[in-house]
Formats: sequence, C-alpha cells, structure tokens
Amino acid sequence: MSQTATLPNALGNAQETRKECPECKAGLPHTPGYKSWCPSCNWNLADEEKREPANRFEKVMLQLGSKMSEGLFREVQGRASSLKRKFTPAKLLAYAIATVVHGVTLIFVAAAAWLYYVAVTEGMVSCYIWGTVVALLAWVSLPKWRKKPKKQHLLDRNEFSTLYKLVDDLADSMGTKRVDGLVFSHDYNAYFYSAGLGKKYIGVGVPLLSVLNGQEKVALLAHETAHGANGDSNRGFYVSQAYENLFTWAEMIYPVSLFGNGLLGVLLMPVLLLMRLFAYSLIWTGMGLVHLLFRDSQRAEYYADLLAMQQSGREAMESMLQKLFWTQTFQYTIHKCYFNKHEDLVSLLRSEVANIPDTEIERLRRLSLREDSRLDVTHPPSAYRIELMKSVESTPRIELSPDDERALEKELSALYAKTHNKWMDIVAEGWRVW
Ligand SMILES: [Zn+2]
Ligand SMILES: [Zn+2]
Repeated sequence: MSQTATLPNALGNAQETRKECPECKAGLPHTPGYKSWCPSCNWNLADEEKREPANRFEKVMLQLGSKMSEGLFREVQGRASSLKRKFTPAKLLAYAIATVVHGVTLIFVAAAAWLYYVAVTEGMVSCYIWGTVVALLAWVSLPKWRKKPKKQHLLDRNEFSTLYKLVDDLADSMGTKRVDGLVFSHDYNAYFYSAGLGKKYIGVGVPLLSVLNGQEKVALLAHETAHGANGDSNRGFYVSQAYENLFTWAEMIYPVSLFGNGLLGVLLMPVLLLMRLFAYSLIWTGMGLVHLLFRDSQRAEYYADLLAMQQSGREAMESMLQKLFWTQTFQYTIHKCYFNKHEDLVSLLRSEVANIPDTEIERLRRLSLREDSRLDVTHPPSAYRIELMKSVESTPRIELSPDDERALEKELSALYAKTHNKWMDIVAEGWRVW
C-alpha cells in the first residue's frame, strides 16, 4: 500500500468515481481526485466520522446551533440595521442572571473572609474548617482570566510592522483601542480575545492568512477588530463564566443516590431529593443562559461582519468568508504534506486552494451549514454570513496598496516554516485531524 493511500478521504479516492447517486439516481458530477457527492440529495456530503465537541459548553452550543442558526438568520436577514441595537431583552436577561451568579461568588468570598476573621479573633476551630470549605468554593467560582500570550507567540512590532499598521489603521478607523499584540497561530482561523486586565489580542492563523489576498486579509482582521470595538469578548466572558459556575455548583451538590441505608437513609431522602432538584434548577438556569448567549453572540458575529465590510468592501468580505469553508481542504493538505514529505505546507495549501473545483466549493459550502460538522461553533455558518452581506452595499474604506501587499507577504512568509514544522510535529505525534 502506498503512503498516499492512507490519506483521509477529504477529497475522495479512486473507488468513489460513481456515475449515479445510489440514493436518488441523479447523475453525479465527476471531479477526479475529489469526493463524489450528490448535488440533488446531498448524498455523501460529509465523512462518516463526526467531530466530538471539546467540552460541555461547545456541546450545548453545537446542539443549539443546529436548532437556532437558521431561525436567527431569517430574523436578521434584510434587517441588518437591527443588529446595531445595543440592549436586547435577551442580552439584559443574560447580564442579570450572570450578575446574580457572580454576586453569589462575591458572597462566598466575603463569607470566607468573615469566617477566618471569627476563627482568628475568637479562636474557633470550626470556623477555620468552614472558612476553608467556603474559601475553596469561592476559589472554584472566581472568574478564570485568560492568560496573556507567551512572549514567543507574540509577533514583534518591528518585524511585522505592516501587519501591525494594518490592524492599527483598522482600530483607528473603527474608533476603538488598538490591540496590545498580535499572536501567532498555526490554525486555519483568526480570533480576538481579552487577557489579563483589559489587554486585547488578535490571534492570526498563518495558514488562513496565507490563502487570503490583501483585501481579504483586511476583511478578516477587520472582523476581529470589530469584536474588540463591540466588547463582544468581555460580554462573552462575563456570561460564560457564570454558566461555568452554575454547572460546577450543580455538580458539587448533586447527590448520586437518593437512597441511603437504614432509618437515617429514609430520613435523609427528602433532603437529597431537594438537593437534586436544586442542582437541576442550576443546570436549567445555565442552559437558559447559554440560549441567551448563543443568540447574542450570533448577532454579534453578523454585526462584526457588517462593520468589517465597511472597511474592506463587500467583495473581499464575501470571498474571505467563502475561504473559511475550506478547513477540510487544509486538513487534507496537512496529511498530504506529511505523507508526501513536502517541504512547505503553505505553498502546498496555496496550490490545493488554487485548484479547488467549483463542485468541491459547493460541497464545502453545504457542509458548512451542517452544524455537527462545523469546526467553529462560535460563529454562524459562513454561508449565512455571506447571504447577509449580500443585502448591504459597501465600498472599502481601507485598501491595501500593491506595495503593502508585498510587504505583508514578506513579513508573513517568515512564519511559514514555523507553521509547517508545527503541523508536521502534530501529525507525527499521531494526532488525527478528524
Ligand atoms: Zn442523490
Ligand atoms: Zn467573530
């Protein structure tokens, strides 16, 4: 068996060159080297294997996404201006619930301090014990700030001056604070985040940037800058931390069994039952919170797209969003690069992307609408994002000159070898891309 035969089936293999759909008997488009699928009934659109959610938050977001994304898209479609609304009832409710949860955490902190005070002044041993219990409770409930990026991951302002100038210009143009740093990422994405106390960063995924043209880079970075301008990550942090606490508390008090031994067991049963009900009510509140957060965060994504489009223009925004579908192509390229011992992942990715046939682009577009196969649960499906853009006209405010583009490419090319090595190490360690 040749090495390439073990490549994952992203782009199909030889035995899949069927002429007719086994489900609906429609004729299948034949694109050698690519997966056979049926445009009429979506047969063979996706691989059998589904991605497992990374944690319980992502799992709930995925479940919600499959139920709510389409409805929310219909709601915002053609009413792009409504996205601007600062305070929706859903947002206010989410804030109110989260504030109560964080208030309880503050009570834990105060109670622990008071118990220790009593323990020291009155010399009461029981207060030490209870103080420690409540302090532990406070500790697990306190917000976990995201750590600042490590120095080796931060891009240097002098070495990446064109890239920094672009994000600074975008921040200035949107009237928001400039980011504190750009962070290297080897993933096929980009992200905005706050870390430490009020520091803001944009993670730049080198593989994704490498397949975007100049103006598409403007669109991508403008989208991330818009998140900073809108305070999306702070709001997300405030609410998601409250959500985490509700689940942590529920897990702590949930009695596994309601039935104890003997008379004590019988007497304790109502208490255990109440504790279980209380645990459930915490979980239900958490689920309600994530519902509210989901709606708010999806609206925030559409709004960030609109703001970004004002900077980059619609054409670049649309083509950038389309390239976001291509994560499967990237995953496939990683494996191909590894097995064929190719020396440069980025140049291989560029040639794969340049040769994607239209049928494959359409397959990836349809796949992006399937929530269970999406890689990024925090954003609405890219196909919906593109649809929404179509309803709004926009001319670019920031345009990269050919000189800027060349300078950007030169700066980024310094990261290509690092990206290549990172991925080859990951594959060599046996990590499976899907
Ligand atoms: Zn079919
Ligand atoms: Zn976003």
